[in-house]
Amino acid sequence: MKEDRGKNGRRPVFLHKRDIVILLVAAIVAVVLWLVLTRGSDAGAVARVTIGLGDAQRSEEIALNADGVHNLMAELPVHLQVQDGAIRFVHSECPDHLCEDFGWLRYDGDWAACLPAGVVVRIGDTPLPQSLGE
Ligand SMILES: [Zn+2]
Repeated sequence: MKEDRGKNGRRPVFLHKRDIVILLVAAIVAVVLWLVLTRGSDAGAVARVTIGLGDAQRSEEIALNADGVHNLMAELPVHLQVQDGAIRFVHSECPDHLCEDFGWLRYDGDWAACLPAGVVVRIGDTPLPQSLGE
């Protein structure tokens, strides 16, 4: 009798408490992984640096996942700083220092230029504004 009641009285249980905990943990792990991977893809971004003018123009890629300062010898010496997946002109020997006012470049399409030094920095493949392409 007891056995029967126990057997028939219970509704079929698909989710035990332990299963719910496991599902919650899996969901949390998934969210954390997603955050880490999303952040990781940002950190894997690259800045494309165009140096020089005309025929002497060359380009370099600077990975944004390694903090540090990159010293470039362009028309004028330029120093680019990479930190936390972003890059900026930290110092340039140009007369106006406008490039340093661009601030941090982090997102696809962000760009900055030091025209006296002939250096253009951009994130991703977004084309430059027409005025800088000449
Ligand atoms: Zn400048």
